[in-house]
Amino acid sequence: MLKNVPAMAFTGSELDRAAHLRRDEGWLARARAETHSRCVLLDDDKVHLSSERGLRFAHAISDDAIFLGLDDDGHAWFAAAATAADTMLDLRNLAASGSLPAPQLDLLAQARSLLHWHQRHGFCAHCGHATEMRDAGYRRVCPACKAEHFPRTDSVIIIAVKRNRHVLMGRQASWPPGMYSTLAGFMEPGETIEDAARREVKEESGIDVGAIEIVANQPWPFPSSLMIGMIGEALNEDIVIDTTEIEHARWFSHADIEAMKLGTHKDGLKIPPPLAIAHHLILGAFQSS
Ligand SMILES: [Zn+2]
Repeated sequence: MLKNVPAMAFTGSELDRAAHLRRDEGWLARARAETHSRCVLLDDDKVHLSSERGLRFAHAISDDAIFLGLDDDGHAWFAAAATAADTMLDLRNLAASGSLPAPQLDLLAQARSLLHWHQRHGFCAHCGHATEMRDAGYRRVCPACKAEHFPRTDSVIIIAVKRNRHVLMGRQASWPPGMYSTLAGFMEPGETIEDAARREVKEESGIDVGAIEIVANQPWPFPSSLMIGMIGEALNEDIVIDTTEIEHARWFSHADIEAMKLGTHKDGLKIPPPLAIAHHLILGAFQSS
């Protein structure tokens, strides 16, 4: 496993999700009315902020607010969708800014993924009838066909592939100029984590991967991914790029990576910032070799 990586965003939530309270309508009603309860407000992935750039909370907590959990003081936290406000910031930029405590970023990630799921699952995937929210936001039911629908988490493999003190990275055409990162992709049904990683790396770069170690994971709420982080050993070196997936890929030395991390690379190349799991996988590939 990677050593402590406190700069990685959206990990280590401090809320007790208290799942046993989600069906307790009496308790939920009291918690919504309790003055110590808090309800964060999001407009898609934009977070409502106060004039002091802290979180802005709802004045009143509505019946359709999602219950996130209890904090250390036993106070309930909720989340609700809200239209645009004067002061908002995209959750990615909020995480990069470091202006909020890490536990608040974690509950915002939970809120963002759940709110997005409700916005996109108003109708039954089985029969098309309108669905209804249950369990304070952790289930939807279809009154017509009785199907139950649960919030989804999409598994994504992300892997730093290494060979001879070099690490393989690629870039997509849509990324900021000079940005390179680890290869990644969605898992497919019926795959193991390791098989998905080997398939993605082979498809995108032509590189075969042998031994793989799963070293870290990170919820990534854009909208609902779980990044499963690995370090793997390449079995060959000749890169063959699939240009429908990535624009370029190459091997990077330890000196390259250090300069990219510090922003001093001679060609202006960069790696993702510490809030992203990719940053830690890239550096971890050199720790463990
Ligand atoms: Zn249905």
